[in-house]
Amino acid sequence: MNEHIITVNNLSKQYQQTQVSGIQQINFSINRGDIVAIIGESGSGKSTLLKCIYGLLKPDDGEIQFNGIKVKGPDEQLIPGHPEMKMVTQDFSLNIYAKVYDNIASMLSNTDIAAKQAKTMEMMEHLHITKLKDKKVIELSGGEQQRVAIAKALVSDTKILLLDEPFSQVDSLLKNELRADIKRLARETGVTIIMVSHDPTDGLFLADQLLILKDGKLLQNDTPFNTYQNPSAIYTARILGNAVVLTNAEAEQLGIKTTAKNVVFYPEWVELKNTWNSRRFEVKEVYYKGFFDELLLERNGVTIRSLQLNSGEHKKNDHVQANIGRFLVF
Ligand code: ADP
Ligand code: MG
Repeated sequence: MNEHIITVNNLSKQYQQTQVSGIQQINFSINRGDIVAIIGESGSGKSTLLKCIYGLLKPDDGEIQFNGIKVKGPDEQLIPGHPEMKMVTQDFSLNIYAKVYDNIASMLSNTDIAAKQAKTMEMMEHLHITKLKDKKVIELSGGEQQRVAIAKALVSDTKILLLDEPFSQVDSLLKNELRADIKRLARETGVTIIMVSHDPTDGLFLADQLLILKDGKLLQNDTPFNTYQNPSAIYTARILGNAVVLTNAEAEQLGIKTTAKNVVFYPEWVELKNTWNSRRFEVKEVYYKGFFDELLLERNGVTIRSLQLNSGEHKKNDHVQANIGRFLVF
């Protein structure tokens, strides 16, 4: 069998002819059992791509293969969507007046009642919602409802789980938990997960593969580590790490001489220390972020950002020595 569970070939979908919309000539493959995160600004084409993969949208050009077989579009079958894929969107599509157990079990046939019960219980255990079994969905928090929606999506021998902005309704503490559970779930069940988000903290670092989308185009396809360390575009560095972007002239004011148009670095690449190549900056602002401070530093009219792990060590109007230890040029 093909090691790639999904292959996307030259996929394009344009909604309007007058302006750029949708996605353009996208190519990538996904390994079985991997978690793939698709990151891009709002409107970059993430949902369009997900709907094409699932077979809900008919592409203008190109195709998607699932285990080497073309995924049928909505015009090619009675019920749109691939039987072995499930999509969980922000509205969860649960029956809110029914019990958790019944919502999940409703996905399974009644031909083998014992198996139906066993599978439902097993999936509730995977998602840590066994104790919510007899509660109605309407009585649950957003995060709990999300777990029910995922359990419901996975219970019927699903091979691919598609998550569209999965964490948008969940507060940050629950986010961490859900992220860890998704990672474990992929390992335990072997399901392949494709999740899209505009927020890189949503699973950037749990993914095996990261795709960066901008204006409907695939900018980069690599591991999260490689993408973060070596972004192929300024857009990527901005969206992933809130990078500092300097013009050539600004960089020169800080002693960086280059022919490139832009100099880009993450705030954590700025080292606050006294070395031969460090330069004097004035601290313009200190933002308290809990276990670290974000400092706004200025030199010769150019402002950069830096992180300081020992919170409170530097104050506004202090002078510090800083060295941009690593930077990228674009
Ligand atoms: P994302 O999920 O990344 O926010 P979408 O895939 O929803 O982006 O949309 C990508 C682009 O296509 C956007 O510019 C959006 O306005 C446009 N678009 C999406 N759906 C439609 C539609 N049904 N009709 C026209 N334009 C659309
Ligand atoms: Mg979307």
